[in-house]
Amino acid sequence: FTGKTGSELLTEKLKKFKVHEYQGLPIVVEEDVSVYDAICTMFLEDVGTLFVTKEQSLLVGVLSRKDLLRASIGNQDLTSIPVHIIMTRMPNISICEKDDLLLDAAQKLIEKQIDGLPVVKPNDQGLEVVGRLTKTSITKALVELARDQHL
Ligand code: ADP
Repeated sequence: FTGKTGSELLTEKLKKFKVHEYQGLPIVVEEDVSVYDAICTMFLEDVGTLFVTKEQSLLVGVLSRKDLLRASIGNQDLTSIPVHIIMTRMPNISICEKDDLLLDAAQKLIEKQIDGLPVVKPNDQGLEVVGRLTKTSITKALVELARDQHL
């Protein structure tokens, strides 16, 4: 018997969770695709955040639902506006890496008030997008933790 309370054990486990255990597949679009095509991709892939890349999956930006809604207000031709015009761009993107602690990634979501982070792998060219960490990923971790308690 370790003498630790249930909540201490829970906290200990939670602090060990890594991003790669809960990350999902990234859905990406190239920087020159149209806003119209990005909206179609968001619906078809059923995600709330798209990552924008150039050559070899290098991260250049992020597109949220509201970014696409904002661009759709008015009478612009959405097929002729490339997403790089409206995206949130590097270096203002919050990121995480696969071996980061899930809690640190969760902290970034809260601080920046955003729904998701790209999981990246740095190389000589820049940051390669390898995954997606969302509020849903964090929820999964919490539910798993709670269910474990009853085993
Ligand atoms: P929504 O705007 O659909 O509610 P978010 O809250 O995730 O979705 O996005 C809010 C704003 O923050 C958007 O302009 C979006 O481009 C930007 N954003 C989303 N994710 C990130 C990120 N990881 N780093 C920086 N900015 C982001």
